[in-house]
Amino acid sequence: MIDKIEKLQQIIDKSRNIVFFGGRGVSTESGIPDFRSQDGIYNQKYKYPPEIIISHDFFMNRPKEFFEFYKEKMIATSAKPNPAHYKLAEMEAKGKLTAVITQNIDGLHQLAGSKKVYELHGSVHRNYCMNCGKFYDVDYVVNSNGIPKCDCGGIIKPDVVLYDENLDMNIFDLAIRDIENADTMIVAGTSLTVYPAANLIHYFDGDNLVLINRDETGIDNNANLVIHGNVGEVLNQIKVK
Ligand code: ZN
Repeated sequence: MIDKIEKLQQIIDKSRNIVFFGGRGVSTESGIPDFRSQDGIYNQKYKYPPEIIISHDFFMNRPKEFFEFYKEKMIATSAKPNPAHYKLAEMEAKGKLTAVITQNIDGLHQLAGSKKVYELHGSVHRNYCMNCGKFYDVDYVVNSNGIPKCDCGGIIKPDVVLYDENLDMNIFDLAIRDIENADTMIVAGTSLTVYPAANLIHYFDGDNLVLINRDETGIDNNANLVIHGNVGEVLNQIKVK
């Protein structure tokens, strides 16, 4: 492990355009639960699996049940950034890191100070009235009773990409451009099974592909460096010069 951290330190020392691509594992270390994890079979609170509840159709047809699940399982306003978030913000501030690309919707990178963050799946912090487009913050959604409603009476929709909704291709294209220009890409906290996000690594043509993940991934063999561990613990040992 120490050898691998040293190798990562060397890679980061000589890199000038790092792009970080992070998945769920980056947030779980901040105590954000995985909404896909089912409750025990004897205390199933919800009548449908998460993939059904967090879908566009379900949101449109059963908003009350959607928001019940959404507020309980997908919003964690008390979560704080962990060392991974802070280290990435430091890398960006010192001109080594170009962008963070994330599959998470919790806004923790921005809270840690990162400026350029591509949120492929949106953010719980942005919410818009479906009728008039008025913006509402996450606290408004959390504190609303049942379905959050706008002054105008419209339903407020979180700016989060639901199942059977498309990713914002503008964000995707911007992320691809930064990946194509990167000398190092760090992929962390994801097993790279969620498409199309998992395709992003195919645009990388730089010197070093680094994988940090607790478990093995399908592309371990393609990487220059693979570290099986927690993202925060690994990055916390790196010095940004
Ligand atoms: Zn409205």
